[in-house]
Amino acid sequence: MDSVGVAAAAPDAGPGPAWQSKCPWGAPSTTSISCSLADVMSEQLAKELQLEEENAAFPEVVAVAEGPFITGENIDTSSDLMLAQMLQMEFDREYDAQLRREEKKINGDSKVSISFENYRKVHPYDSDSSEDEVDWQDTRHDPYRADKPTTTPRRGFIGKGKDITTKHDEVVCGRKNTARMENFAPEFQVGDGIGMDLKLSNQVFNALKQHAYSEERRSARLHEKKEHSTAEKAVDPKTRLLLYKMVNSGMLETITGCISTGKESVVFHAYGGKSATEEKVIPPECAIKVFKTTLNEFKNRDKYIKDDYRFKDRFSKLNPRKIIRMWAEKEMHNLTRMQNAGIPCPQVVILKKHVLVMSFIGQDQVPAPKLKDVTLSSEDMKKAYSQILNMMQQLYKECNLVHADLSEYNMLWHDGKVWLIDVSQSVEPTHPHGLEFLFRDCRNVSQFFQKGGVAEALNERELFNAVSGLNITADNEVDFQAEIEALEKMNEDHVQNHGKKLSTFSSDGDPPIYDE
Ligand code: ADP
Ligand code: MN
Repeated sequence: MDSVGVAAAAPDAGPGPAWQSKCPWGAPSTTSISCSLADVMSEQLAKELQLEEENAAFPEVVAVAEGPFITGENIDTSSDLMLAQMLQMEFDREYDAQLRREEKKINGDSKVSISFENYRKVHPYDSDSSEDEVDWQDTRHDPYRADKPTTTPRRGFIGKGKDITTKHDEVVCGRKNTARMENFAPEFQVGDGIGMDLKLSNQVFNALKQHAYSEERRSARLHEKKEHSTAEKAVDPKTRLLLYKMVNSGMLETITGCISTGKESVVFHAYGGKSATEEKVIPPECAIKVFKTTLNEFKNRDKYIKDDYRFKDRFSKLNPRKIIRMWAEKEMHNLTRMQNAGIPCPQVVILKKHVLVMSFIGQDQVPAPKLKDVTLSSEDMKKAYSQILNMMQQLYKECNLVHADLSEYNMLWHDGKVWLIDVSQSVEPTHPHGLEFLFRDCRNVSQFFQKGGVAEALNERELFNAVSGLNITADNEVDFQAEIEALEKMNEDHVQNHGKKLSTFSSDGDPPIYDE
């Protein structure tokens, strides 16, 4: 997927070296990432807040100490609310824990129990263990919808001769408008218009509709804080808190801004800080991949994980939020395998719930360009191709993985070589669709390099055989694909008869999962 939410490219960057105009992120020096989150997360803000406080207490001292430029007026307080909310959230959580303890104490073994549920501060979507993220909206019976909408037939009138009633009939139209009013937002009180046989003129109806619409918008704004999905660019409070804690603990120095917003993830850039433990070194620049907690985008990715035996036992028991965490976990495991095989890829720093911190491929906040965005000399193009061929073989043989989303979108060009990213969906070759995914990868790679003028580039079928070591002889795509599917089927049958697949991997040597 493409990165759309980039605010880094300065529109008036002016003339510069060729790579600068090519680079979608703009020049390093002019990079002004505008992302509200950055302000919130920066330690600078914390310092400024502190300063502000001190300023109030000892006005002159601070002004002298910090020079004339940092004054109370210069401090950006736009993120105060967010900070306060996050602190409040932590406080509320503690309060709830206390409440639960008291509830338990009072109830004891008693058959009749008292619930303090209504006194809780943190709403269910804030709590970690909630099962509440099922997308109920899809299945909800809408009580506000009329059972059977009265429709005017296509021809626009009912009846015959003198009794003809057209869709413009005032009474019919008025009744219909009244019925349509029921479709306004549920929280909009429309009263029992139908019961009263109220007939609304078009004019009145439209005015009401307009009003309902703006009410809805206002109400949506008011309830914005309840938003529990990771929306475009912004992240939900829970994620913000996670990120905030990472900055607070010193692991990250600052989160500077957003480098990509995709359908399934938002990626931020951060400067690394200091690790709590000596043996772990935090890279100077980090990429933070936040997996979106909205379900919709992940629904169609089920097939990658559902059939992955590594996650199979867990899949059925998990609630949707945990499944999303599993994506992040999967990306971490796969990156680690690749790292161990020496494939150029981001290095995992830490995984926390659905947030994966890894090393940043790029420099000075400017991410390395994707292969699709970079113009390589024919020599570099050749070099890149043979490197990718090698990496695909290594990935398959040494890591026991198929990338499953390999294309010029998920390969970065950095330091004169290709880096592989975005491996949350990668699977083992014995995955029921593993070989199909590999074939698709081969097609992408082959097409990209053949179009790019690399004469040596194998076609997709040759590439597939070269990577997998299989020897499928079909000379056309349809037969080739059929053979692939037959192989997958054979493997599945074998699994059915002989139980669980055996991984050739004993241990990933994965880093520990960072948890509270
Ligand atoms: P998605 O599933 O949204 O495609 P990706 O892992 O491909 O997620 O990340 C989206 C974009 O973010 C990438 O195309 C790349 O530009 C940038 N990105 C991701 N990880 C890194 C990283 N470690 N270093 C630099 N840029 C990164
Ligand atoms: Mn991607």
